[in-house]
Amino acid sequence: MSRFWSERVAGLEPYKPGEQPQVSGMVKLNTNENPYGPSPQVLAALKAHITDDLRRYPDPESTQLRDALAQRFSLNRQQVFVGNGSDEVLAHVFHGLLQHPQPVLFPDITYSFYTTYARLYDVSYRMIPLDENFALNVEDYRQPNGGILIANPNAPTGRFLDLSALRSLLRFNTDSVVVVDEAYIDFGGQSAATMIADFPNLLVVQTFSKSWSLAGMRVGFAMGQEPLIEALNRIKNSFNSYPLDRLAQQAAVAALQDVAWFAKTTQAIVDSREQLTQGLVDLGFSVLPSAANFLMVSHPRPAREICADLRSKHIFVRHFAGGRIDNWLRVTVGLPEENHRLLLALQAMLVS
Ligand SMILES: *Cc1c(COP(=O)(O)O)cnc(C)c1O
Repeated sequence: MSRFWSERVAGLEPYKPGEQPQVSGMVKLNTNENPYGPSPQVLAALKAHITDDLRRYPDPESTQLRDALAQRFSLNRQQVFVGNGSDEVLAHVFHGLLQHPQPVLFPDITYSFYTTYARLYDVSYRMIPLDENFALNVEDYRQPNGGILIANPNAPTGRFLDLSALRSLLRFNTDSVVVVDEAYIDFGGQSAATMIADFPNLLVVQTFSKSWSLAGMRVGFAMGQEPLIEALNRIKNSFNSYPLDRLAQQAAVAALQDVAWFAKTTQAIVDSREQLTQGLVDLGFSVLPSAANFLMVSHPRPAREICADLRSKHIFVRHFAGGRIDNWLRVTVGLPEENHRLLLALQAMLVS
């Protein structure tokens, strides 16, 4: 607190990102990063663009990248928006599309940045409880609202809401924007992007941070019909004309060109997820069905203790203290050898 702070600053509750520990030899399964690096073609493209051209501003419209995304999703350039990570895209969504008299609806257990943005932009919201198995029932969203925001697969539960359920939600909710945050869609879900032509109020948000292994480059994007994208452009161009630097634009374009690397690495993570699930079940864990690159798990032994115990062995997983998921841990799927080390540590700890 400082006397120089405005009331607004004093009232913020900033998001707390997962820890980035600097321990050599650690097993880092706490922030859902991709254990496989980006495509070698991405690294080559980056090196090729470290030139004197860096003195120039980047393309403010990220045209090449938006064209590449439009092609991948069978859209046109005007239906694609890019930002500095999907966090920035989501911020512009709150600012530009969700500030209405009625509250925005989202699940009680979801990405905690949503409440942070709602506070930052004075957006009223109502949290709709997931059921006792952390499943989302779209019927709960049949109520007046100023927008609906669903992470699919949801985070941190990993549960996927199938497209038929999402379609029924879109059918009964045509007068406010429905945002689907698909940060984890490439690990086994089906994207709602295929429904964009049918629903003028649908906005789909994705990121290069997880499946494309580029968390460090900060590239996210949104797809929807042109009026929604135009709203985001109006916000962006009132905020920062150049959210993506030259290297970030090139890295993302190069990533999209190496679909083989993307397919191989995402499939490896899906395969490891299934193996890790079995290993955890064998140790007495309950594991939620996951379509993401992480697992939400619970054990008769308190989650907090397991988390601390793993931490002392330099294995990092995520515990969300307090509330309904206090006895759950979110475990990122790592490399096979990292998952193995996790299972060995858990076995030593839990099986006596
Ligand atoms: C990781 C994540 C994001 C943010 O991704 P960035 O593109 O790195 O900003 C957005 N939504 C959810 C649900 C996430 O888990």
